Amino acid sequence: MRAAVLHAPGEVRVEEIDDPEIIEPTDAVIRLTATCVCGSDLWPYRGVESVDGPVPMGHEYVGVVEEVGDQVRTVKPGHFVVGSFVASDGTCEICRAGYPSSCVHRVFMSQIGTQSERARIPWADGTLVATPDLPDLDLVPSLLAASDVLGTGWFGAVAAEAGPGRTVAVVGDGAVGLLAVLAAGRLGAERIIAMSRHEARQKLAADFGATDIVTERGDEGVARIKELTGGLGAHSVVEAVGTQESMQQAIGSARAGGHVGFVGVSHDVALSGEDLFFSQVHLHGGPAPVRRFLPELIDLIWQRKIDPGRVFDLSLPLDQAAEAYRAMDERRAVKALLSV
Ligand SMILES: [Zn+2]
Repeated sequence: MRAAVLHAPGEVRVEEIDDPEIIEPTDAVIRLTATCVCGSDLWPYRGVESVDGPVPMGHEYVGVVEEVGDQVRTVKPGHFVVGSFVASDGTCEICRAGYPSSCVHRVFMSQIGTQSERARIPWADGTLVATPDLPDLDLVPSLLAASDVLGTGWFGAVAAEAGPGRTVAVVGDGAVGLLAVLAAGRLGAERIIAMSRHEARQKLAADFGATDIVTERGDEGVARIKELTGGLGAHSVVEAVGTQESMQQAIGSARAGGHVGFVGVSHDVALSGEDLFFSQVHLHGGPAPVRRFLPELIDLIWQRKIDPGRVFDLSLPLDQAAEAYRAMDERRAVKALLSV
């Protein structure tokens, strides 16, 4: 089958690799309908995360089940499925507590790669959710978004306790940040402040429910959030970047007693204990337990109540994966869909 393979920083090639097979009786093999490039794929692409030799890329996916192992009960060949970027058994104590992305048997799909024609999905029963039927073609981008960026933005908003009567600030205007805006709105937030300095992203944030836009960053961004919230800071802040600056901006933007949901994949963030101590905020984050939210998100998409697929502003065939990476790296695209 064909798959996108990273050979060295900046060098993605689509080439033939071995077809996946059922290895464990709990596995499924799916034929991808669509996949995409994630902001977190850019870390190894940029050489910020080192890679050893050629590695298949990707961890977001929707597609049709082709084959299942003997112990798989909930999905069957022919089902259209959406799954999380982390495979999970769905049965361990951590999964049952709502944290499948920290399942004791978890497998990060990035270790398998899903920017390919087919993929093996471990723990199919715990990982995959079938849609009610084969989806209309125009729903595919939104269902694909549920696999990671929507689920991650949603978790950011939930972790930040976005809800009625709350002012939510979102740090980061990538796909996750934009979808955290959407999530905050669905969760009933009263006011949603999107932090962005890009016009097209500001517009999408407004369409997703942002009531205010802040273009300043760092200390100036924090000052602006305080100004908009009577000097107090936001009740809820979603951090959707993962850098030192964005994390400080998020914690600084939250009021005492407020909540920060941090879902940007953290890179070399060092927090000062003293700043943390005096910030007096709740911090909750990490790799989003997307599987927890999938049934609800699929239902909202199926009923056309949300349209998270709008974050895809570039759509290319899998063969052009290299261009999809370039476009995202150069910030010419918010998020690139690869049709298979
Ligand atoms: Zn588990």
